[in-house]
Amino acid sequence: MKIRSPIVSVLGHVDHGKTTLLDYIRGSTVADREAGGITQHIGATEIPIDTINEICGEFISKLAIKDTIPGLFFVDTPGHAAFTSLRKRGGALADLAILIVDINEGFKPQTYEAINILKMYKTPFIVVANKIDRLFGWETHEGASFMESYNKQAPRIKSDLDLKIYELMGKLHEEGFQSERFDHVTDFASQISIVPICAKSGEGVIELIALLLGLAQQYLTQQLEISEDAPAKGTVLEVKEEVGLGITVDSIIYDGVIRDGDEIALMDANNVVTTKIRSILRPLPLEEMRDSKNKFKKVDEVVAAAGIKIAAPNLDDVVSGSPLRVLSDQEDVEAELLKELEDITVDTDDEGIL
Ligand code: GDP
Repeated sequence: MKIRSPIVSVLGHVDHGKTTLLDYIRGSTVADREAGGITQHIGATEIPIDTINEICGEFISKLAIKDTIPGLFFVDTPGHAAFTSLRKRGGALADLAILIVDINEGFKPQTYEAINILKMYKTPFIVVANKIDRLFGWETHEGASFMESYNKQAPRIKSDLDLKIYELMGKLHEEGFQSERFDHVTDFASQISIVPICAKSGEGVIELIALLLGLAQQYLTQQLEISEDAPAKGTVLEVKEEVGLGITVDSIIYDGVIRDGDEIALMDANNVVTTKIRSILRPLPLEEMRDSKNKFKKVDEVVAAAGIKIAAPNLDDVVSGSPLRVLSDQEDVEAELLKELEDITVDTDDEGIL
């Protein structure tokens, strides 16, 4: 048994800052990249626990978090259908979510859509109130914690922010959630934390990451237990043509192990497709990518959680959001996948939610 990193998705209305936040999270750990500070996956970025401890040490000790989980695994690509193509059984592709709301705009149609998805799949989430730097008169403190920056603001700005947070709490209440600004939360199981941030300057991101870790540690460790030699389970994020490789599928593997040459089962719009893996690819480290024509390196096997590209024959009609299974001997995977497809909510209008 191994405990894998929790998979974290970012949801929210278009332009509320999903991409900017993910870019900041990636960028803030770049200095540590060569020291193993970050692992680049296909479609995901993993920040190992040591790096998190380094960045957020103080807050982690405040939250009294034990580090049994290996890190946080952020799904990179907002906008793909896989998050909404969720599995009823076994929960969602994401173990945790960040719901991002522009603090100046408040709830918008896709914010409500995202909340409905989170409710439906009971995904624990944190609300991020983004763009605090746009509050009139806000003084930016690059990379600071929210509390540090907040304490340096003029009283009028503080009350302006407090008011906006109350408005968000009101909206969340209408949706059936009790919430508080994160530093006022007394019970993480029953209250949603609201973290004010600026995705551009990184203010508040430290607290956000520490809280994600805390939530995962406290409520998810059972769900994160995986067997390292069970046949892999995953979800297809994207189906893509690559020069020299043909049609490939970018997939997040959330359980088990997947090996070169394995038989796998996936779904097209209606049916199960089976094929044999020709190669499993991971991104090259950035330093090597610069001097190479290739973006990927071939690997023999991968254990969850991982984001990989799979090259194989017969992938042309596979749909994004499709489940992926490594076939073992006796399993009736076909029935299982068809059942899963029945349970899937494929929402084609979800552009921008993620
Ligand atoms: P997405 O559609 O949710 O991925 O939103 P983006 O990350 O693309 O952000 C939309 C716009 O808002 C871009 O122009 C960003 O530069 C800007 N933006 C995002 N976060 C912040 C922030 O914290 N402060 C400010 N001032 N602008 C932001």
